[in-house]
Amino acid sequence: MAKCPICGKPASPAHRPFCSARCKQIDLNRWLSEVYRVPAETPPSEDDDKSSD
Ligand SMILES: [Zn+2]
Repeated sequence: MAKCPICGKPASPAHRPFCSARCKQIDLNRWLSEVYRVPAETPPSEDDDKSSD
């Protein structure tokens, strides 16, 4: 029996691989925060070149 990756309880067949809809939501939120946490890549060379006079 698989365990819920969020809380470690036995997974529910209705919410696999999670134990409940709540843990499923928590995992989704984690995943979304990971996506939105990606830092905006700003090329430093170009900006530095323009600012120099
Ligand atoms: Zn859980």
